Amino acid sequence: MKPHMIVAAALVAGTTIAALAQTSAPVTPDSLVIAAKRAAGTDYAGTFMRLCVAPDNLAAGRAGGAGGAGRGTTNATPAVPDRATWYAQPYKVFDNLYFIGTKIHSSWALTTSQGIIIIDTLYDYAIEPEIVDGLTKLHLNPRDIKYVLISHAHGDHDQGAALLQSRYGAKVVMGAADWKTTLQRPATAPGGVPKSDIAVEPDGTKITLGDTTVNVIATPGHTPGTSSYIFPVKDGGRTVTVAYSGGTAFNFPRQAQAFAIYRDSQKKMGDAARAAGATILMSNHTEFDRAYDRVRLAQLPRASGETHPYETDVQTVQRYFEMTGDCAEAQRLSF
Ligand SMILES: [Zn+2]
Repeated sequence: MKPHMIVAAALVAGTTIAALAQTSAPVTPDSLVIAAKRAAGTDYAGTFMRLCVAPDNLAAGRAGGAGGAGRGTTNATPAVPDRATWYAQPYKVFDNLYFIGTKIHSSWALTTSQGIIIIDTLYDYAIEPEIVDGLTKLHLNPRDIKYVLISHAHGDHDQGAALLQSRYGAKVVMGAADWKTTLQRPATAPGGVPKSDIAVEPDGTKITLGDTTVNVIATPGHTPGTSSYIFPVKDGGRTVTVAYSGGTAFNFPRQAQAFAIYRDSQKKMGDAARAAGATILMSNHTEFDRAYDRVRLAQLPRASGETHPYETDVQTVQRYFEMTGDCAEAQRLSF
């Protein structure tokens, strides 16, 4: 196409010449940060700050980063934090999805016609009060837990896996690479060590329980075995699709190749979210998807036509993965 035709086509498509000029500008860390900022908008300001403005692993030598994972990634077991700083009530959030997380970390119960799928399991101190007692308060039976999906093997998400496996016979699903590090933990690790169950390989897997299927997508980056999920929830009988991002912060060794892997996973997950028509973005840290606010807002009555506080649209979900990918690429190019 000749240049004037491109301009004409762009004008017809409603884009501007300025936008055209931008796409041909050289890609630099700065231009990627600007693009990420635009993609984040006000929807993902917190995540943009953590990934593009002050990435964790810029502070070299700081174990565990600021992601709250330190307790789980080292053998040290500091005292249990004051309950008032983390305890959250359990909430029914969708017809078939229940929040049983803390103020800081998410854990979800996805109910199906054949039992319960738990997504992420918190630190060991929160397992009984949030997951076991939380389900009971919501009139769900922990004995119905059939699967436990672990997004990645950091203590803030995986320390409940062993208990739910040994007490209720649930099958634990985790990325193959994260099983490897998990199985090397000492038996005295907080929460114990789960026995190897279902390993997610790089091409992903599907977990089906009764009438519900979770599409498990391997998204290495945050850890080598990070998994992300796509699954349906029902809002007043209407099916809405969730894209659950399984690992976020850059608290891994600071290497260009690691950022390339992370970037590619964001693209892969974004594409899967688009193909599934996902209109909800969820994360496993409440700071990244405002889970603690949204699950409480979901308790309020809604006007007719008003959408669920978690529901956005396909483009808004896409902007999340554009932002995370751009922030990773900005880091990769800055070496
Ligand atoms: Zn983590």
